[in-house]
Amino acid sequence: DGLIWYDGEMVPWREAKTHVLTHTLHYGMGVFEGVRAYLTDRGPAIFRLGDHTRRLFRSAHILGMTIPYTPDELNAAQVAAVRDNKLTSAYLRPMCFFGAEGMGLRADNLKVHAIVAAWEWGAYLGDESLERGIRVKTSSYSRHHVNVTMCKAKANGNYMNSMMALQEAQGCGCDEALLLDTEGYVAEGSGENFFMVYDGVIYTPELTSALDGITRRTIITLADECGIEVREKRITRDEVYVADEAFFTGTAAEVTPIRELDGRSIGNGSRGSITEKLQTLYFDVVKGRHPK
Ligand code: PLP
Repeated sequence: DGLIWYDGEMVPWREAKTHVLTHTLHYGMGVFEGVRAYLTDRGPAIFRLGDHTRRLFRSAHILGMTIPYTPDELNAAQVAAVRDNKLTSAYLRPMCFFGAEGMGLRADNLKVHAIVAAWEWGAYLGDESLERGIRVKTSSYSRHHVNVTMCKAKANGNYMNSMMALQEAQGCGCDEALLLDTEGYVAEGSGENFFMVYDGVIYTPELTSALDGITRRTIITLADECGIEVREKRITRDEVYVADEAFFTGTAAEVTPIRELDGRSIGNGSRGSITEKLQTLYFDVVKGRHPK
């Protein structure tokens, strides 16, 4: 239950419906965000709201979709979705999609609709994962085609690849997939950016085949503040096998340690010290307990 902001109005959860001929449902041209609200000392606060809304508009621009609202209106919609549902720790899902006004690839009379849903939400992969780390499998699906050319877009159509990779990893008893790019270098997880630590330096793939993650940026800033060097570089699979630490970052996954890749333990097979430090700082930031 609860309320969903739908094209400018708050509607009951059950009534927030769309037609079966919704264009985005058929062709995947839609954009969305995953956003979190955390309980801070001053009440619930949406983390990096402006950054998420900016990325949503940029994603739409890449797809040639004109969102019929302003960024301020969608920011206000997200604040209202948390407030009106009386949420404290929440996940928010803004999404823009083409309606059912026309069918086929050539439909040119489509309206752009927008929704913001929000619900109470804890740790994406469970509290234990944040502490012990997860088991990951290198995917046979690469981040390719549309994915590679659209690293700046968080578009619905990009997620078929992610879903296939995740299904495959879970089918092998793992928690998450690591996707490589078409040249075989590490790209990212199904919904997370990748980092590894080697000899006290943090490495993360360049943004040629991974989403420009908002958590990724936060982690790079926090590492800088701690005086830990971060280098963007092409990372091979065997470099990960011999890394001292590895972790995923994302709005949902926060900072999740990786304890194993393809059956090989990473470092000592548990959460590494730099990972733990950044994880602690990240939770301080999102909960408003960090000066920045
Ligand atoms: N990579 C992909 C494919 C994602 O879907 C996400 C989630 O949004 C991320 C990375 C992490 O991005 P962010 O930290 O902005 O949530």
